Amino acid sequence: MELICPICQLPLTQEGRSLRCRRNHSFDMARPGYVNLLPAQQKPEFTEKYDGFFHLTDMQGDVENARMHYILRDHDAAKLEQKKADAQAAAAFLNRKYGEGTVTVTLRDSYFNMKKCIEPCMHIVEKWVLSYCGNKNLSTGYCV
Ligand SMILES: [Zn+2]
Repeated sequence: MELICPICQLPLTQEGRSLRCRRNHSFDMARPGYVNLLPAQQKPEFTEKYDGFFHLTDMQGDVENARMHYILRDHDAAKLEQKKADAQAAAAFLNRKYGEGTVTVTLRDSYFNMKKCIEPCMHIVEKWVLSYCGNKNLSTGYCV
């Protein structure tokens, strides 16, 4: 049985306990053979600073159902959208293999990086900072 990358559709080859495609998308393989279809290199333990990640925060299951909760994070909006698409692609892959409706993905945006909202109004922030600093340190002069 040939496995394909759920992100780029290229064949996956096994490297130790991982599966990897030619575009270097990598997926963890559990001891019993189950494969985590989200990119292994984008787990928080392999990222730093502004790198985005897929962070599994909760997992519950019984004989009939399993539920996993992830935080998808990225400071780059386009990369965050790609992470959402990757999660959907993993679900679509499993639904093709095991039947439609086997896996559902529910995405909910909880917050965004506010930089692009604040930048057009930066003069308000600067004015407030100057006012705050001016009130705290009366011996120093500030100007805008
Ligand atoms: Zn790939």
